[in-house]
Amino acid sequence: MAQLSDDCFAFGGPLLSVDQAAALIAERLPVVAGIESVPLGEADGRIAAADLRALLDLPPFDNSAVDGYAVRFADLAPAGETALPLRGRLAAGRAATGVAAAGAAVRIFTGAPMPADADTVFMQEDVRVEGGRVVLPAGLKPGANRRPAGEDIGCGAVVIPAGRRLTPPDLALAAATGHAALPVRRRLRVAVFSTGDELAEPGAALRPGAIHDSNRVLLVALLRRLGAAVSDLGILRDEPAALRERLAAAARDHDLILTSGGVSIGEEDHVKAAVEAIGRLVFWRLAIKPGRPVAMGLIGDAAFVGLPGNPVAVYVTLLFVVRPLLARLSGALSGPLLPQSVRAAFRYRKKTGRREYVRVSLRRAEDGTVEAVKFPRDGAGVLTSLTGSDGLAALPEEATGVAEGDPVEVFLHPLLW
Ligand code: AMP
Ligand code: MG
Repeated sequence: MAQLSDDCFAFGGPLLSVDQAAALIAERLPVVAGIESVPLGEADGRIAAADLRALLDLPPFDNSAVDGYAVRFADLAPAGETALPLRGRLAAGRAATGVAAAGAAVRIFTGAPMPADADTVFMQEDVRVEGGRVVLPAGLKPGANRRPAGEDIGCGAVVIPAGRRLTPPDLALAAATGHAALPVRRRLRVAVFSTGDELAEPGAALRPGAIHDSNRVLLVALLRRLGAAVSDLGILRDEPAALRERLAAAARDHDLILTSGGVSIGEEDHVKAAVEAIGRLVFWRLAIKPGRPVAMGLIGDAAFVGLPGNPVAVYVTLLFVVRPLLARLSGALSGPLLPQSVRAAFRYRKKTGRREYVRVSLRRAEDGTVEAVKFPRDGAGVLTSLTGSDGLAALPEEATGVAEGDPVEVFLHPLLW
């Protein structure tokens, strides 16, 4: 019996796989409308709302890639050194108008426009300057050290596709191609509640039987990193009527409501029933460990996800279930995250039919390659397993375990935020 009740999967009924859940989410949830223009300096991490096109060629003009001397390749001797008179000087920021390279070497600096008739640049380290003449070695290819206009990207080309979560390099590219601001999706409004009569605020004195609420601060911080506008709505007690009322109120002005705890099948787990009463459940159990009880549904126009209570289960389900849901609601392109494949330096047994996320750290093995070691404790409530690991190894549904030396797919924690 102990064995049976230990096994979350013994209670019958089909469990949805993580991939099936993602497909349902993509099918049932609309992209939240709302677009705003933000200056580049505030656009990091936002979702591009439209394709952004280059307003000019990048680079905008042919220019030198080095400090040196610009010449016409045709002026060079077919073999051996060539000496050309030094004529003219082009620093970055100068226009090349009126500077001609024909029959001469023009002093030029990195980023300066090429003289209209020059096609090749010698690096200053490679030449000798002797009394007004520049002696150029043989062997350089035509076009060397010249950056042609548009070689990075051409005017009119898409520099950032709609749906991309903007990164610092994206912002640099937008600036370089003529933009000062970008259209982005408005931030998703996400309401976060904790549930449970045992919970006390961080820092509060604990009466017997109480613990500090740690899930809310975890969720709020992760959601902010994922770009949401988060409302921290506190702790809900295990009272059905109050739960229904608070969830219904939050649904009026949020795109997504997240709760943690109270979604199992114990008598004190009231969240699922509350959602069934005031909204609609889409699924409530997933084939995932840690984290099996995850309720997803709709309350009014808001999406709802009830996460499990145990903090590690909260972390895993937020990142592997809610994160794709946020991407969907915000219109983000969500290609699958690619893990790193490394060698397991541990053994582990698992049941088939569910995806498991095992907390691991990476280390360098004696042969110089990277291997994963497992955090010694597996409990879904062990917070030090998150602070003491580098990431999560994803073990697929069909796997029965991991043997030492097997490849495992690891998502480093920061990759997931
Ligand atoms: P539940 O699903 O409500 O039965 O909760 C499962 C476990 O997670 C219990 O040990 C709860 O005390 C714990 N738990 C629930 N919510 C929180 C929270 N906000 N912070 C820390 N632990 C929690
Ligand atoms: Mg509870």
